[in-house]
Amino acid sequence: MNNTNRKQDALNYHAKGRPGKIQVVPTKPTNSQRDLTMAYSPGVAEPCRAIAANVDDVYKYTAKGNLVAVISNGTAVLGLGNIGPEAGKPVMEGKGLLFKIYADIDVFDLELDATNVDDFVRIVKALEPTFGGINLEDISAPTCFEIEQRLKAEMNIPVMHDDQHGTAIISGAALMNACEIQGKKLNEIKMVVNGAGAAAVSCSKIYLSLGVKKENLVMFDINGVLTPDRTDLDEMRLQFATHRTDVKNLADAMKDADVFIGLSAGNVVTQDMVRSMAPKPIIFAMANPEPEIAYDLAVEVRDDLIMATGRSDFPNQVNNVLGFPFIFRGALDVRATAINEEMKLAATKAIAELAKKPVPEAVNLAYDLRNLKFGKDYIIPKPMDPRLIIEVSSAVAHAAIESGVARTVITDWEAYHEELRG
Ligand code: NAP
Ligand code: MG
Repeated sequence: MNNTNRKQDALNYHAKGRPGKIQVVPTKPTNSQRDLTMAYSPGVAEPCRAIAANVDDVYKYTAKGNLVAVISNGTAVLGLGNIGPEAGKPVMEGKGLLFKIYADIDVFDLELDATNVDDFVRIVKALEPTFGGINLEDISAPTCFEIEQRLKAEMNIPVMHDDQHGTAIISGAALMNACEIQGKKLNEIKMVVNGAGAAAVSCSKIYLSLGVKKENLVMFDINGVLTPDRTDLDEMRLQFATHRTDVKNLADAMKDADVFIGLSAGNVVTQDMVRSMAPKPIIFAMANPEPEIAYDLAVEVRDDLIMATGRSDFPNQVNNVLGFPFIFRGALDVRATAINEEMKLAATKAIAELAKKPVPEAVNLAYDLRNLKFGKDYIIPKPMDPRLIIEVSSAVAHAAIESGVARTVITDWEAYHEELRG
């Protein structure tokens, strides 16, 4: 199919029939007048009274407990940049669709005309009565950091900025497994991170939690290597400044590095840089749509390389859909008041572990592949793996309970797994 056809197909897909991708569907009988008197006045007054008497009953009588808000102001949409809230809406509807099909979570997508931090925070905070959780999406750095920090502190439902933490969780799982296959220890690897934006900062933080040593990490932004004497960096970035004095540019840093993490821009890594890396190197070139180095160019010069990208047309796609539906599923199921570090690490480890288990035939079939098995071209599970919801949601729910942020507990885990299996 040529490019023009593909573009037109995508437009037709969205415009066909009822425009957009999602709708609201009643979940109770609506066949008779009697049904309607219960759904609305006068019957509806009963749950209203119950909730007025005990506000937690909102989880018992309304959709709140299974409802997530996907909220964006359209300031950093995909790789498209600051295209505004209306132009971001197809993405947010798409995210709603993914939440629904992967984890049966209902979503209202909310596109806000609010670029100022105070406005954004005030609006989202006021939405707490409606939702069981908040997925912040495609908000530009650095405002995304402050927005998320404030909302997490001020709200009693889980808040997660998926562009930061989703990517961190999935790539963290991929890194654990890539290191295992290459025989490298997380606390010994030398890592280069290209990019110092929302994704790079949050990914680097999770890598440190997984054991990577700060002194073994060198980070770059568009102006070059992050060093303590740079005056243009905020706290968030300064914590990743290197004390190495032998690194002046990316080529210096790549020499003998074990791992390259790209969360920057396309085609900034050369084949020579890849050649200069340590034996059994790991490259996650995640810039979208063009990776920091094209898959074919990288594997051409190193047959001992493990490579991942953000793209679906190459092995090892770092795809956030492996995380967010199941992380929110687990958080909602125990009415967690937050998605904390313990829950994120539990998700990371569950995703990593799952990749090491034998792959069900249904997954091979879904991707038209044969004999998928743990190895350099399969370091993380495939999104359509039906075991993800069970493994990841349970791990997240469990971590929420253990870390004290769950408001209900699960005691019968077998029954919970059955429920997740659907
Ligand atoms: P962002 O907040 O805009 O950050 C981009 C960062 O890259 C900035 O720090 C920028 O430097 C730096 N940068 C840009 N060009 C560079 C270059 N030539 N050399 C070194 N650094 C450069 O964006 P983000 O949300 O973190 O995302 C970054 C990239 O990762 C995007 O391409 C995005 O699509 C991709 N991504 C992929 C996944 C995935 O695969 N699942 C997930 C998240 C993000 P300054 O700070 O100096 O401007
Ligand atoms: Mg996003």
